[in-house]
Amino acid sequence: MNTNSVNNAGQHQEVVATQTELPDAVAIVKIALDSAQVGIWVIELSTRKFLPSSRTKALFGFSDQEEMSLADALQQVVLKHRKTVADSFELALKEQSNIYVECPVVGLHDSKDRWLSITGGVSNPEGGNGYFSGIILDITQQKQNEVKRSKFIGIVSHELKTPLTALKAYIQLLNNWAKKQKDNFSIGALSKVERQVKKMLAMVNSLLNLSGAEAGKIPLNKQEFILNELIGDVIEEMLFIVSSRAINFVPCEDIAVNADRDKIEQVLVNLISNAAKYSEKDMPIEISCTGSGKTVEVSIRDQGFGIAPHHIDKLFLPHYRVETKETENIDGFGIGLYLCSEIIRGHKGKIWVESEVGKGSTFKFSIPV
Ligand code: ADP
Repeated sequence: MNTNSVNNAGQHQEVVATQTELPDAVAIVKIALDSAQVGIWVIELSTRKFLPSSRTKALFGFSDQEEMSLADALQQVVLKHRKTVADSFELALKEQSNIYVECPVVGLHDSKDRWLSITGGVSNPEGGNGYFSGIILDITQQKQNEVKRSKFIGIVSHELKTPLTALKAYIQLLNNWAKKQKDNFSIGALSKVERQVKKMLAMVNSLLNLSGAEAGKIPLNKQEFILNELIGDVIEEMLFIVSSRAINFVPCEDIAVNADRDKIEQVLVNLISNAAKYSEKDMPIEISCTGSGKTVEVSIRDQGFGIAPHHIDKLFLPHYRVETKETENIDGFGIGLYLCSEIIRGHKGKIWVESEVGKGSTFKFSIPV
């Protein structure tokens, strides 16, 4: 047995540190921690000797047979973070306080990039045999997800918020002008547009507010409402935006749903604007709603460019756009359908599309009643 390590493999072996016995509890807890792939480390307060478990060594790219001091481990921490981690250990040891740090490391032998979280605290601070001990977790996957998420949020903020803010300012300018002209129609229309822009800004802001583990999950604020009425309101608003279009609506009976009204509105707006965006200007859009007892299904059909089968299963991924001759001049960020699917998923519903190139697409979603 390596006397300088807490051996992960042998449950019956003593946990030995250069002739020093660690508390029995460590051995018991170790069994549970090993099975969860958690690395353990102990620093003997009197000697400052660092005792890593085999898993801890592996996380820094060391083999089980090698010795690994705290300084050796710190050498594997990416330079930019090394001082912070070293200082955190020093401070915690000096003040006998807890430690929690997250840092990127590059494995010694495997050269693998990993993100680790290091947590620890002091035990027996009053006694002669004090230990500073803790655990190490591999949080690489979590960190990668965080990077993707913040990248996504960064794009949303840049791509959506900036033009929306400009749009809002121009609407206010136009509104002032319309008031001077006493143009009641424009005043009315502009106030509706302004309302929509404000809603979109609020939505973008709420997206930006998603943080930490909650990010990526859209919070829902559910209430009961009649779906037909919402669809009718959205169509009325959309007619201002896609004025050249005929939007035909075949409603279902008045079904009350318990859902987030604003978010379902957002789904409808996204799907209807896409139907308009990806079809010729004189083509109608058909909307229908059907109830089937437990769920209610809404369908938005256009007679536009359609989507080739190999794109269909990727459409709802963030930033996915179909690049064709017809769509190359149409602006978009590829997040509308992703947001729709997240919202519908949050409602435990389903969203899908049936489409044929050159004939058109029908986007459908269903939510529980
Ligand atoms: P955006 O429209 O901003 O690109 P979306 O997430 O709303 O982002 O849509 C993703 C892609 O799906 C679009 O780029 C477009 O290629 C395709 N798409 C969406 N709706 C339709 C539709 N009704 N008809 C044809 N293609 C569509």
